[in-house]
Amino acid sequence: MERFSADDSIETSLRSIYLLGSNTATYKFALTRSLLDLKGTYSTFVSLEDLTPIFAHHLLEHVKSGKKQNTSRNGSKLISALYDHSQENLTLEQMLQVVRAEGFKYVLDAFHNLPQQPKSIPFFEKALNDKKQGIILTDELYNIFESDNYDNFQEEVEGRWNLVESAWGEQTDIRVEYDNDTQELFYLKPISNNAYMSNYKRKPLTPLRRPLNGYQKGKCFYCNQHIDIAPNKEATCQVDHFLPQSLMYKSSYDLQLDEIWNLVLACKDCNGFSEKGGRLPSKEFLTKLARRNEYLIESNLPMKETIIEQCGRSATARRDFLNKRYLACVDISNTKVPWSPKLIYDVDF
Ligand SMILES: [Zn+2]
Repeated sequence: MERFSADDSIETSLRSIYLLGSNTATYKFALTRSLLDLKGTYSTFVSLEDLTPIFAHHLLEHVKSGKKQNTSRNGSKLISALYDHSQENLTLEQMLQVVRAEGFKYVLDAFHNLPQQPKSIPFFEKALNDKKQGIILTDELYNIFESDNYDNFQEEVEGRWNLVESAWGEQTDIRVEYDNDTQELFYLKPISNNAYMSNYKRKPLTPLRRPLNGYQKGKCFYCNQHIDIAPNKEATCQVDHFLPQSLMYKSSYDLQLDEIWNLVLACKDCNGFSEKGGRLPSKEFLTKLARRNEYLIESNLPMKETIIEQCGRSATARRDFLNKRYLACVDISNTKVPWSPKLIYDVDF
C-alpha cells in the first residue's frame, strides 16, 4: 500500500503525526496545537513551565465540550483536573500544577512515533536549560511556521480531534455522514436501545474541509494547486462530489454519492461551472480517489469504519466498488469526454 511516508517532506511528517494511527489520549493533538502556537517565540528553548498554560488551554477547550479525551475507563488525573477547573472546583493555579506534573509524562517521548513506520523527523527535542526542563524547537518546526499551510494545520488538527473524541464517546462505531447544506459531518446517535423503537439524535462532528484537507496534502484534488480550509481566503477550497451529485437523481438505483468516499476538496478554478461543475472526471482520477480513501482508512476512527462499511472490507473490494459506481455514472451521464483540468501542478500527492 502506498503510504504517506513515501513522501518525506516536512509538512507530510507533521500531518502523519496527527492524522495517522490510534491514540489513547488527545495529548498529541494538544501538543501539536501548542507547538504551532509557538510561532513568533523569541527563543528556541521553551521551558515546560511556559508550555504548560498553552497546552492546558487547548485541552481545556475540548474538556469543556464534554467529549471523551482518553480511552481509559477511569480517566486520568490530568483530565479530571481540567474538568474540575472548568466546573470551578479547582483554581487555575492548581489546575496548571497538575498539567505541569502530569501532562508531559508520555507525550513528549511518544509525539514523533508513527504506526508501523520509523519515527517522524523531530519538530522539537527534550532539553535542559539552566536545570529547567523544556524543549528546543528544531529547524523543521520553523519551516512549519513559515509554511503556506500554517493555518490549515491548526484546522486539520481540530478536525481530527473532533472526530476522535466523538468516536471515543460512543459504545459502538459511529457512522460518519455528510450534510450538503452546512458542509459538515455528523452522526446519528441512537437514543433508544430498542431497535424497533429506534430514534436518533443528530450529533455534529466537524466541518468536512478540516479532516479531508490533510489527506490531500493541502492541495486541490485535481490540479494540485494549494488550497486553504478557512473561509473567505483567496485559495479557499470547495467541496466537490467526485461522481457528480446530479447523477444521483438520474440513476434508477441509489448511488449514495453524498458519502465521504465520494467527496474531495477542489480549488475554485477546477470546481467552477465552466470547468468540472457537474461533469464526470477523467478515469485517471478514480485511481487517485481510491488512494485517498485508503489514506482515510489509515487514519483509524471513525472514518476507517465508515469507508469500510460503505465501500467494502478489502482494498480490492473497495476498488471494485469505485469502478462499478464510475461505470454506472458513465452510462447515465451525458458527458462523452470526461473532464480533466487544463493545468496540473507538478507536485502530486
Ligand atoms: Zn484545482
